[in-house]
Parts: sequence; structure tokens; C-alpha cells
Amino acid sequence: MKKQLAVLLELQKIDIQIDKLEKVKSEYPAAISAAQQQLEQSRRDLQAQKEEKEEAEKRRRHLERELEVATEHLEASQQRFTEVKTNKEYEALQREIDTWKQVVSETETQILKTMAEIEQLTEKILTGEQKLKEEEELKQKQISDFRAKLEPAEAEINNYKQEREQLTSGVDKKLLSNYERIRKGKMGVAVVPVNRKACGGCFKQLPPQKVVEIKKGNRLITCDSCGRILVWDETAE
Ligand SMILES: [Zn+2]
Repeated sequence: MKKQLAVLLELQKIDIQIDKLEKVKSEYPAAISAAQQQLEQSRRDLQAQKEEKEEAEKRRRHLERELEVATEHLEASQQRFTEVKTNKEYEALQREIDTWKQVVSETETQILKTMAEIEQLTEKILTGEQKLKEEEELKQKQISDFRAKLEPAEAEINNYKQEREQLTSGVDKKLLSNYERIRKGKMGVAVVPVNRKACGGCFKQLPPQKVVEIKKGNRLITCDSCGRILVWDETAE
């Protein structure tokens, strides 16, 4: 029995390693897809800026055509001064010219605004492209690192599982199922050594008689306080 209890302690060391590796293994795929999603988002953001710039350029071309038309109208109106005969005609023509001048001036202002917008977007896109390039390098490296760790983790788990099987082959089935059950409820720690006459799990002091019995190791003894299996660790004390 004493030997079996010692095996449980060894078994637990392996199980804790397996748990750690399983956790790592389960986190990598999520980390990989998170990195991929972040990259996708950055690409979409940059694409949206490029489309915005294209829109602004389209608007600018449209405004330039409008300016051309307005300028032609203005010049045509100005040439008609020679044909004007009455004061009334003169005033009407003057109003018409003023209107075209207004249109020309407003269109020019809008063109300048659009050009400034395009310039800003061009700069933003340039910075964005640089940043995306850096981000791509970083994220691709992260992703391949994750992938590189995933495989060895799997191999390591298999090794531990084999070791586990060898260890448990000689252990009493009932003892083993007790161990499994306690382990589930105690965050993976079912077996604890006695440490300075106290439970190594919850640190509660143990009655001297109990310590003696644990040291003998003739039967399964659990902690009254936390329920964990208590064993005597020869190497520790
Ligand atoms: Zn305890």
C-alpha cells in the first residue's frame, strides 16, 4: 500500500504536466485565429481608406468638370457685355455674371478641400501600409511559433500518457478512482505530502497519531479539512 501511495504522488506530477500541456494545446488554436483576425481587420481598415481616397478623387474630377462648365458660362456672359443695349439688360447680365462667379469660387473652394482630403488620405494609407507590413511580419511569426509549439505539445502529452499507463498498471483500481475523483474537485491536486506535521494542501496541523499512520502508509488517509490524500514523502522529510 505504501508503495501505491507513493506511486499516486508520481502519477499526480505527470497529470499536472498533462493538464498544463492540454491547456497550452487548447489555447494555441484560439491564439492563432485571434492573430489572423487582427490581421484581417487591419487589412480591411486599409482597404476602406483606399476606397475613401478613390471616392475623393472621383469627387475631385467631377468638381473640375463643373468648374470648367461654370468658367465657360462666365466667359460667355462676360462677352455678351458688348451686345447689351439697355440699363436693364446690363443689370441682368451683371447679376448673371455674379452668379457664375459665385459658382466658380465655390467650386474652387470645394476642389481645394477635396485635394487636402486626398493628401491626408494618401499619407494615412502610406503609414497604414507600412504598419500593416510590420504587423503582418509579427503576426505571421506568432502564428508559426504557435503552430511549432502545438506539435511538440501533442507529442509530449503522448509520452506522459504512456508513462502514466505504466505507472497505474500496478495501482489498485479503487485507489485510482479515489484519486481521480478527489483530483477533479481539488484543482488537480489530490495527493499531498505531509509537510512539518501539517497537510501539504491546506496546511492544517495533523494530530501526531495521524502523522505516524501516514508514515506507516498501511491505508488510505485523507485530510479531515480539505479531503486530499495524505502521503509521506521520504524525499521531503
Ligand atoms: Zn488538507
